[in-house]
Amino acid sequence: MPTKMPVKNKNGSILNFSRFFGREVIAFTATRGVDFTLKEGSAKPTSQQKGFLNKSAKSSFKHFPTFRQVHGRHVLLIKENSLYDSDYLGEADGAITNLPNLPLTVRTADCLPIFLYDPKHQGIALLHAGWRSSQKGIIANAVYLMKKSWGTKAKDLKVVFGPAIQECCYQVGSEFRKYFPKDVTKKGKNYFLDLPRVNRRQLTKMGIKRNNVFDCARCTCCDPKLFSFRREGEKAGRMASVMILKSKNLKKH
Ligand SMILES: [Zn+2]
Repeated sequence: MPTKMPVKNKNGSILNFSRFFGREVIAFTATRGVDFTLKEGSAKPTSQQKGFLNKSAKSSFKHFPTFRQVHGRHVLLIKENSLYDSDYLGEADGAITNLPNLPLTVRTADCLPIFLYDPKHQGIALLHAGWRSSQKGIIANAVYLMKKSWGTKAKDLKVVFGPAIQECCYQVGSEFRKYFPKDVTKKGKNYFLDLPRVNRRQLTKMGIKRNNVFDCARCTCCDPKLFSFRREGEKAGRMASVMILKSKNLKKH
């Protein structure tokens, strides 16, 4: 069973996960108040999109750096010099940073947004994990990069799974039994994938504590407040997930 924790749903416009992480982190997924689909050929959010995120985060950031999501396993390490006064960071499906006041952003409409926080080293990660990225082990890749960059230990990590298509609605082809032998269930003649469980399994394998993982367990396809590609098809919008490290607060070790 997922760790239970109330999700504060401010005016219904965001699912707020900040309380799970503590006061140093802002983390939320915007519901369908604003569509975060980015224009063809651009990975830059518009001023209206940025305005909504600033309002939700009670902030005034000029940039919400993001990347073109390609369903891979590549995770970017964002350092001071990788920012060129721009919102666009290249192709990737996740990013990590220990820079405070730098908002990480991913966009989803059924894929799983994953938030990771290392309180000891004050580092965060935000991932876009669809089935392809999950199969390729993007979460393990992110944890490895955090370890390599800051000395992160898996046992210290706190992780949140945002809204995604859940097993109730995620019907897949029979070939998925090969990709995810332990996480595909047969109901009647059909097969269903449990995407959060795939990622939870990978976290457990790396030594992340069960109680340090919070799964909001909201199904994008069941919940009309959320965008869902499965339910709405091509016209589905995208939800933005944002994670921000508020202050450095480095502790001595
Ligand atoms: Zn569902």
